Amino acid sequence: MFPGMLGQSLAGKALERGDWSFDTINIRDFATDNHKTVDDTPYGGGAGMVMRADVIESALLSTPKQGRKIYLSPRGKVLNQTLAKELSQEQTLTLLCGRYEGVDQRVLDAHEFEEISIGDYVLSGGEPAALILMDACIRLLPNVMGNVDTADNESFGSATGGLLEYPHYTRPATWTDSFGNTHNVPEILQNGNHAKIEDWRKEQSEAITQAVRPDLLKKNT
Ligand code: SAM
Repeated sequence: MFPGMLGQSLAGKALERGDWSFDTINIRDFATDNHKTVDDTPYGGGAGMVMRADVIESALLSTPKQGRKIYLSPRGKVLNQTLAKELSQEQTLTLLCGRYEGVDQRVLDAHEFEEISIGDYVLSGGEPAALILMDACIRLLPNVMGNVDTADNESFGSATGGLLEYPHYTRPATWTDSFGNTHNVPEILQNGNHAKIEDWRKEQSEAITQAVRPDLLKKNT
């Protein structure tokens, strides 16, 4: 599963350059029985299986440099751009991906894992969540994106005031869709008046945020 999509494009090139690196640990390698068991039934009953604390701890201790320890979990603090930026500044992260019903709480407590969620829905495993967290962080590393200002100008960025981004257009200036309707790029973007373009973009950004994510306007104004 790793590096998956992160082996491609800008993140892939940055990986080749050594701007970031990763190591995967197969938890099953730390099982102690012949069947390589990593889970067991939950105390108190109920559906599903729970990943064992002893096996996870052995896997964790096999890595010499753990840095900030994160358990990807629907129960966690929801990942946002501010948190991604903070995590991108860490030297090392250890990401624990759960399966089944999740992980024995004791190993999370003993090793002070932070819990981070990628949204209010449940995945089958933590791996896609880890890839998403990694992608959000890697693109913020120095040299990964061509223009260092790009991230600040995007949705949730500081230059956007934490709001959603304005709409983009490129050539041709006039385009006719397959239904026969003609669409023009807004006149203001074609006239080269940068102050007016900035004002227009700000208005658009506020209008889109108001329509789709009014919570962001409240948070950032
Ligand atoms: N029983 C758990 C619950 O109700 O909160 C869900 C377990 S889920 C089927 C299995 C694993 O997927 C979790 O241990 C976690 O690592 C990962 N996972 C699922 N949804 C996630 C989310 N929204 N964000 C991050 N990780 C998630």
